[in-house]
Amino acid sequence: MLRILDSTLREGEQTPGVCFDVHVKLAIAELLAAIGVDVIEAGHPAVTEEIHRAVRVLAGRGLAPLVGAHARSLEGDVEMALECGVGFLGIFYCVSETRLADRATDLDGAVARITAVIRLAKARKPDLVVRYTPEDAVRSPFENVMTAAAAACAAGADVISIADTTGYMIPGTDRSMFDYITRLRAELALRGFQPQIAVHCHNDRGLALANALDAMRAGAGLIDASVLGLGERAGIVDLGTLLAVLASDFGLAGRWDLTLLPELYELVSRYARVSVPVNLPVTGRNAFTHCAGVHTQAAVRNPLHYQSLDPAIVGRAPEIALDHMAGMASLRFSLERIGYGDLPDELVRSLLKRVKEVGESGRTVDLDELLLIVRAALERDARADRVERLAS
Ligand SMILES: [Zn+2]
Repeated sequence: MLRILDSTLREGEQTPGVCFDVHVKLAIAELLAAIGVDVIEAGHPAVTEEIHRAVRVLAGRGLAPLVGAHARSLEGDVEMALECGVGFLGIFYCVSETRLADRATDLDGAVARITAVIRLAKARKPDLVVRYTPEDAVRSPFENVMTAAAAACAAGADVISIADTTGYMIPGTDRSMFDYITRLRAELALRGFQPQIAVHCHNDRGLALANALDAMRAGAGLIDASVLGLGERAGIVDLGTLLAVLASDFGLAGRWDLTLLPELYELVSRYARVSVPVNLPVTGRNAFTHCAGVHTQAAVRNPLHYQSLDPAIVGRAPEIALDHMAGMASLRFSLERIGYGDLPDELVRSLLKRVKEVGESGRTVDLDELLLIVRAALERDARADRVERLAS
């Protein structure tokens, strides 16, 4: 069964300037649990005392998802994570020749270290889910990844995570996640191992979600994501978009409570001090808003003419923007929503002129402002009527 790991609290805090207080982390974790993610990666306890405390608090909260910690392949890191009471432990170690040389070690040295910490963790807590990540796996020699992954499995690792640490992969090319995961699974199976395969896709080329779906197609069963795609550099897979696509297009509707996504995004955005881009899929303000006259004319009749993702899956509805692109259909639609659906054409045309003038100044007329424009126009007409009557 496909599982989702949210790393907003771990990878997300690697966004420059982002640091969540423990009480905020708790609120974010509770929403993630209510949405239904499977693993919450809570942090790397060895990084700061505050992160250590937060991981302990979250792990002790009794949340339904597994709460996980990140750890280098060091006994001290692993002990610290275990002491927090986590149910999931992610350890990492590079396997590329240049990185190994930088650390004054070789593949044998790396494997010895990786397997020692996995054995230690499993000995301390047999039901702990242990994930091993060969850092920058996809740019490392495949044989090195295989050697380390097979040794990790033999030592007791449950999950092997393929990290596209630099957002290097491109679907449909010789750098495809689909091909990589297919080959990895086949070669591990030949050695008698069938671990769950996880993917951690960075978004440097804007392809994180595409690569994650490509990996899933090849049998990856655990996908990493974060709210707003927060993370190092361009971040990772955006959780909201991932869940909406899985629910809408991969037969997983009802698996998660996506109506809580807007609340989660609002919360994370506020405390990360990172605004939700207006055009972010699914959770962005404009994600389901139709604007151009031709679009709105068709969309008010049937939203599916210009929409393939149903906004109702995240508890939203299609919206119409009124600006310089507005037409009679979008204005009529909006007037109906504020109780003025029966105005004469001539008046609606003059309202449209006013709406377009406001739009040309670079603003959108929302329903509140439309009401003010309608009232002003009706008062002006009433005044004109009075003057006409007095004159006659
Ligand atoms: Zn990462």
